[in-house]
Amino acid sequence: MAGRDFLQIPGPTNIPERVLRAMDRAMIDHRGPKFRDLLRGLLPRLQKLFVTERGTPVLFSGTGTAGLEAALANTLSPGDRVLVYVIGYFSQVYARMAEKMGLDVERVDLPWGEGISGEDVEARLKADKGQRIKAVLAIHNETSTGVMTDLPQVRAALDRAKHPALLVVDSISGLGCLDLRFDEWGVDVAITGSQKGLMLPPGLAVLCVSDKGLRASQTAKMPRYYFDWSAMIEQNRKGLFPYTPATSLLFGLDEGLNMLFEEGLDRVFARHARLAEGLRRAVQAWKLSLVAKRRELASDTVSAIGVPQGFDADKIIDLAASHFHVALGSGLGPLQGRAFRVGHLGALNAVEVLAIVGAVEMVLSSLNIPVELGRGVAAAQSWFLSRNGDGPV
Ligand code: PLP
Repeated sequence: MAGRDFLQIPGPTNIPERVLRAMDRAMIDHRGPKFRDLLRGLLPRLQKLFVTERGTPVLFSGTGTAGLEAALANTLSPGDRVLVYVIGYFSQVYARMAEKMGLDVERVDLPWGEGISGEDVEARLKADKGQRIKAVLAIHNETSTGVMTDLPQVRAALDRAKHPALLVVDSISGLGCLDLRFDEWGVDVAITGSQKGLMLPPGLAVLCVSDKGLRASQTAKMPRYYFDWSAMIEQNRKGLFPYTPATSLLFGLDEGLNMLFEEGLDRVFARHARLAEGLRRAVQAWKLSLVAKRRELASDTVSAIGVPQGFDADKIIDLAASHFHVALGSGLGPLQGRAFRVGHLGALNAVEVLAIVGAVEMVLSSLNIPVELGRGVAAAQSWFLSRNGDGPV
């Protein structure tokens, strides 16, 4: 194939050349001085990424799911009550994981496309008179529906209810793309995976833990060995890992962080918001609708786009892949066949979004979904031009 493939699933995302080059290195001794320097360079910059001074970053080899499991295993004991909001496929997986791990799950199922409301969190925590709920599990960005959570609202709800539950946040498709202020928002454990905003291959779970989260782990009785973060934190202080680290991914992480900080986190977030809006303008021009029920819920990292009744969204994905070298995300769970997803996170710019919009437009038109060629592209172009003052896109 001439040219390049467009990987527009919501993770893994495109890996920038710089990160690829950084990983293309021979192994080093993970008990030697080079590794120590690498790790000691990474940990403070991870704090900067989570916008924390007091939080402790923890790295496990494993995907995001491993990080989610580690968060529960370290902070809770079997039988502990947790409040879980299920707003789509990934939050459902987290609720199921919690159940399987023997937690007592207060599960709040909302229609897919809805978001978590601070008022509801507050009401449930106030109703928990005995303060049995030990943790609130909230998803920062539900990747299956393209819905973002207003985390400061969730924090404010915990505060208003004067409830001591831990706030555990799945930010797997958020961190490095969406604002997340660990200290300011009183997050106790935040979790991400390497293959999204960090622009790396999959395989690294990155967590940040508050002092309160660390204290909880001293009494938490959930069985754990590999995921015991106390061993990890203790060894990290000496510049070591308790077992063999995924060294190549750490080389890549070093360069990924360089790129994020060179651009500046605020600019990274603004870029994601701008690109997402360009795509949303195109969706509007196609007269299609997002799965996200309201504009303020719509994610800046992934858009789940519904198709008109009678059309099969999977055909869009197949044709985009076979004819246009564009990989789109499928609808997950009940959204399969009813929606397709476009990832717009990580290393991405406006011209790439235009290419994707142009390709989707051709696919929709080929499948007789009534869109006028060029409408979506023009809508996105106009939006990007209107934001020219923001600087290069
Ligand atoms: N949570 C969210 C929000 C996700 O987007 C994903 C993956 O896409 C996961 C959890 C699962 O992460 P992983 O596939 O890296 O284990």
